[in-house]
Amino acid sequence: MLRSLHMKLVMIMVLLILSLMTVVGAFLINSVVAFYLNDFYTQIGTVVGDRDLYRDLTQETAAELAGEVSGVEMLDQVLGAFAGELGVNGSNRNYYILDESGAYLAGTDDEYGPKLEYTENLLAVIQDRGVVGDKSNVAADYMDVAIPVDRGDGQYIIYIRDNRDTVDELNNQLFILIMQALVFGLVISVLLSFLLSKTMVTPIQRLTHGAERVAGGDFSDKLDVTSRDEIGVLTNTFNDMAGQLRDTLQQVENERNKLDTLFLHMTDGVVAFSSEGEVIHSNPAAADMLHTAIDEHTRYQDLFEDIASLDSVLAAPDYLEGEREEGERYLELLLAPFDRENQAGALVVIHDVTAQRKNEEMRREFVANVSHELRTPLTNIRSYAETLSENAGAMPPNTEKKFLGVILNESDRMTHIVQDLLTLSRFDSGHSELKLGRFSFTGAINDLYNAVYMEAQKHDHTVELKLEPGLPEIVADRERILQVMMNIVSNAIKYTPNGGHIVISAGRTAQQVWMEVADNGIGIPKEDRGRIFERFYRVDKARSRESGGTGLGLSIAKEIIDRHQGVITTVDKEEPGLTIRMELKIEGPGHG
Ligand code: ADP
Repeated sequence: MLRSLHMKLVMIMVLLILSLMTVVGAFLINSVVAFYLNDFYTQIGTVVGDRDLYRDLTQETAAELAGEVSGVEMLDQVLGAFAGELGVNGSNRNYYILDESGAYLAGTDDEYGPKLEYTENLLAVIQDRGVVGDKSNVAADYMDVAIPVDRGDGQYIIYIRDNRDTVDELNNQLFILIMQALVFGLVISVLLSFLLSKTMVTPIQRLTHGAERVAGGDFSDKLDVTSRDEIGVLTNTFNDMAGQLRDTLQQVENERNKLDTLFLHMTDGVVAFSSEGEVIHSNPAAADMLHTAIDEHTRYQDLFEDIASLDSVLAAPDYLEGEREEGERYLELLLAPFDRENQAGALVVIHDVTAQRKNEEMRREFVANVSHELRTPLTNIRSYAETLSENAGAMPPNTEKKFLGVILNESDRMTHIVQDLLTLSRFDSGHSELKLGRFSFTGAINDLYNAVYMEAQKHDHTVELKLEPGLPEIVADRERILQVMMNIVSNAIKYTPNGGHIVISAGRTAQQVWMEVADNGIGIPKEDRGRIFERFYRVDKARSRESGGTGLGLSIAKEIIDRHQGVITTVDKEEPGLTIRMELKIEGPGHG
């Protein structure tokens, strides 16, 4: 209760009024007393200083000298006559006629007169008649003046004393008045402080509600600024702060969204575990790679215990590495501890290295293939050459010629292989630029026809051309495209028994031209068709080698067509024979 602003304000006002009234009261009461004292001594001083009174008091009258009246009676009469001016009223202010030792002789208060106490002023006169006892004393509860009077019949002291009842009464009334004012002031101050606190507290309460709303993440409304005082400034500042907070939160949210999106779509799998092994975070790639659902119930032990224990990951200085085969996939795992924002745990990053592995495997296979392909002709050359050198001059010339022919053939084949390999490696390293130019597609096919015609004739093949009329000019590397076409048609000739039928057809679509070469030869089993574009792949090695093939022709063809952003495939057709289709962009690579 005391903590509320209402009560604090009430307390402040009450304390303020109390202290104010105390100060004012004390000041007032003191002033009244001081005024009275001052007034008393001024009045008595003025009266006593009166020449008439002084003469009357000190000079003996004729009656007195005649002994008709005593000196005391005379003094009494004179003082009685001046009673009004002296303010003597017989109740709170009296005069007393005393002898030189202070004993009471006469006065207006016979009751108290004989019991008069020796006040400081009285004593001063008794001791030294040369002075007037008129020292004021605020602390005393009386005011008095003692005046020595010497006359013919003796020495007297006129003593005037006021018991200050009037002042006390006035003070009492003042006190009561102050108390009433205090109560009244207190009531008003309490009411005022409630009113005041209301005007102060209401905007503060509104601010508090606003702050609570903002803390709850609701930035929809701005607070109204209703005043231009400090609270108005505070409300303005609060609105600014809330605006900035909203912008900052928005930025953070955007960043988080970006990160979430990145995390969600990254190809590497990521799973984060708490130090107790519970999943904190995981992305779809991780579940996909591990072939398992990952949710809050999944534990580290369920997924990676075989790679490394959680404790060993948490204790690792850097990270641990692991590998796993998941179906057809090779996964590489990095397990690292993390300790951030009071949360420690382990992070597992899963990297799919299947393609990499396959590439490595292919490279190994390729190297093995190359060595194998080169070793065969080399072995042949060596053995024929050896035989020739061992039997130099002793061989029939025919056989010798035949042997030399084999050696020449084999070295040609080697040259062929090395040339093809060079071509491929130039493609692989990106050093082989296409020489693009515009040329007639029909013209190129006619050139192809003319080039292969003789060879086909040798094998009694019939070659049929089926070209759509009006084929367009295309943008491509003419020489290379012709090389591909020749390769396809040569294969058709090679892998078709003599007397076969080869059809070369061509046409166009909106953006492309196509060419198909169909033969009725030995064909390829469906399941192997996809592989004929692989390097060194040959369905029948012996036959291919016999016909001078290297197994690289179609892979070079595919590289060339890929470079042109075209397509080369086998056509899904029932046997006999094989159909190869090639598609090229009319406007060349980079268009459409
Ligand atoms: P090669 O130099 O051995 O002919 P290619 O790369 O040109 O090499 O062809 C790869 C393999 O595809 C060949 O060895 C052959 O087995 C098969 N092949 C290619 N064209 C045909 C075809 N028209 N008919 C049957 N088999 C074919």
